[in-house]
Amino acid sequence: MSSPADTTVGFVGLGHMGGPMAINLAKAGFVVQGFDVAQAALDAAAAEGVTPVSTIKQAVEGADVVITSLPNGALVHQCYRGDEGIIANAKPGALLIDTSTIDVDDARAAADEARAAGLRALDAPVSGGVVGAKAGTLAFMVGGPEDVVEAARPVFDVMGAKAVRCGDSGAGQAVKLCNNMLLAIHQIGVGEAFALAEKLGVEDQAFFDVASVATGTCWALNVNCPVPGPVPASPANRDYEPGFAVGLMNKDLGLALGAVDKQGVDAKLGKLAGEVYSSLNETDAAGKDFSVVYREIARNSGVEGA
Ligand code: NAD
Repeated sequence: MSSPADTTVGFVGLGHMGGPMAINLAKAGFVVQGFDVAQAALDAAAAEGVTPVSTIKQAVEGADVVITSLPNGALVHQCYRGDEGIIANAKPGALLIDTSTIDVDDARAAADEARAAGLRALDAPVSGGVVGAKAGTLAFMVGGPEDVVEAARPVFDVMGAKAVRCGDSGAGQAVKLCNNMLLAIHQIGVGEAFALAEKLGVEDQAFFDVASVATGTCWALNVNCPVPGPVPASPANRDYEPGFAVGLMNKDLGLALGAVDKQGVDAKLGKLAGEVYSSLNETDAAGKDFSVVYREIARNSGVEGA
């Protein structure tokens, strides 16, 4: 990849994450050809420097890099495959980066199909949410050959603060799913600990002051603290506005538990976390930050004021 102005990026999927990523690339001087089936998403990106196009074919035409940010693996395959798809229309040697969170096997299949057509491909799911996408501070977990990851650095550097190569194709998705399964378990555990502390007559702040610097320390407590007060910036202080919504956590747990089953892993807590978030996703808390699980636990436990 030479300079941004000489690099054309095709961007497919301009939603909550893809929109800001595409805009940041355009602002950094890349020529960005953006496509989304939703007109509103296309208009929003066009207003900030992305060149709107009306088909995938037009988005990838002449593009050195093609980035996708789509809701699920079926849509990634749909956009990659077929006569009108990314693989059939990308220029030889183009670099495909899928930033969607999808199943590991789907990611490997997509990369294999791209490679068979003479293209280069990476899976690069992100963490950092919409705030990170807008600020250009996302963390990318990347799967694919080392030289291809290095070739993609100029675009990763604009869209994020770091891009870590986790291994071959699929490894980025694998790390993302393992991390989020762990995160779900942590968030539930932190919620249960606060509820128990409260029932035992301990102030939230007192429990936080000790646990956050003791062996209970973790992001779900120190940053995403599920009770209002100890961490003023956490979603609990704004009625659990996300943040990372229950619906997205539920999606990621579904992918993680699919892998758990397929690999025969004895993940008792991961499975319980899956049940907890799947039930929560059926309530009016589905759109709230996933730390809202504390409120559910506190209410079920008869914690006063929860
Ligand atoms: P989103 O629904 O806001 O955006 C997806 C976009 O893809 C939509 O604008 C939709 O219209 C578009 N789209 C769907 N089918 C299409 C097609 N065939 N062609 C072109 N465009 C199409 O979702 P999002 O929140 O931006 O998430 C995107 C991906 O990033 C997901 O895989 C999600 O799991 C992952 N992710 C999201 C977050 C987050 O906080 N939102 C965080 C980390 C990872």
